[in-house]
Amino acid sequence: MSAVARHLTVSLAQHSYEIHIGSGLMAEAQRYSDVSRRALRIITDSHLAALHLPALLAAFDLKSEQVFVIDAGEPSKSWATAERVLDWMLSQKLSRDAVLIAFGGGVIGDMAGFCAAIYQRGIEFVQVPTTLLSMVDSSVGGKTGVNHARGKNLIGAFHQPRAVIADLDLLKTLPRRELSAGAAEIIKYGMLGDAAFFEQLEGGAIDQLMALHGETSAAVVERCCALKAAIVAEDEFETTGKRALLNLGHTFGHAVETYTGYTQWLHGEAVGLGLAMAADLSARLDWISAKEAERCMQLVARAGLPIRPPAGMQPADFRRLMAADKKVAAGQLRLVLLKRLGEAVLTTDFDDVKLGDTLAHFCH
Ligand code: NAD
Ligand code: MG
Repeated sequence: MSAVARHLTVSLAQHSYEIHIGSGLMAEAQRYSDVSRRALRIITDSHLAALHLPALLAAFDLKSEQVFVIDAGEPSKSWATAERVLDWMLSQKLSRDAVLIAFGGGVIGDMAGFCAAIYQRGIEFVQVPTTLLSMVDSSVGGKTGVNHARGKNLIGAFHQPRAVIADLDLLKTLPRRELSAGAAEIIKYGMLGDAAFFEQLEGGAIDQLMALHGETSAAVVERCCALKAAIVAEDEFETTGKRALLNLGHTFGHAVETYTGYTQWLHGEAVGLGLAMAADLSARLDWISAKEAERCMQLVARAGLPIRPPAGMQPADFRRLMAADKKVAAGQLRLVLLKRLGEAVLTTDFDDVKLGDTLAHFCH
């Protein structure tokens, strides 16, 4: 059976490319990546290799020696792993017209994309995202990189993929918590840029997505990619501030991730809570209504995400950790908040007392 797919073009000044979204796309992966007669190598992680290696090899007509498997998990997104990947690529004698396939979640996409960006000054790569988060977020936008002991994503490069192939069938093996974590970024797009999309999610699309309903999932992923692609097209290299809007909920969320040592909460879980907190503060500022803030929180909860901070975390903890966030400019905390449902702004222009009220409200 031939795949049913939606196609979306990301239009950038130098390199435009297509995102393919649908079911059964792995079988068409070679055609969609348009890589005939090119040397191909795959980078993936240990969980995915255990689950999907035969399908992956068949899709790209490759042998297992042509796949490099790294340990699953964020600690692998390191310079040390990148060096191992680059050593392997050199040992395989890959020339500059080789194409790297990133088969995995954001960890693999960021890491393989980064290796592609710097191998012999840059070769092409294809993103085959396998988590909901990577389908709607990390595989779009061209940010690649690795973490450093001093912080996340501190070493990296902008490098756009040649194509993105999002096969929704892969989500069937994704753990439930990871699915919810991806849903947080999806709710984020509705809140920051598209009220009608937010209402579709509320109208049942969020539940259908969580149940992996094919058509709805494809439509939702496509909408999110389009929203992110439009923002990226306006601000490819993060110079105008537009891209910062994608951080809605993230300043509160990063405080939770740091408080819990990046081990207990998934990024998307922290973002979900952050979305509820950003909406609450926006309502206290009278920018959105209390009812709208409540709707945001309900949607987050419906996606199976937490809406309370970790036990013991106090307003003072949020204050201290948010002050260390990179969005602090000239000593003033900047937050992405909602001017309206469907319209976000990056602002320092909020009453600090109201922020205190939001923190107190959530930390009870
Ligand atoms: P991940 O890549 O670690 O994947 C999460 C877990 O799910 C891993 O254990 C993985 O092995 C497993 N997994 C993945 N696909 C699976 C599948 N189909 N079936 C079963 N298990 C599967 O995490 P993620 O949430 O996809 O990505 C997080 C990373 O993305 C972070 O490093 C973050 O910094 C980065 N990120 C980058 C951008 C960007 O613009 N480049 C944006 C957002 C996030
Ligand atoms: Mg995020």
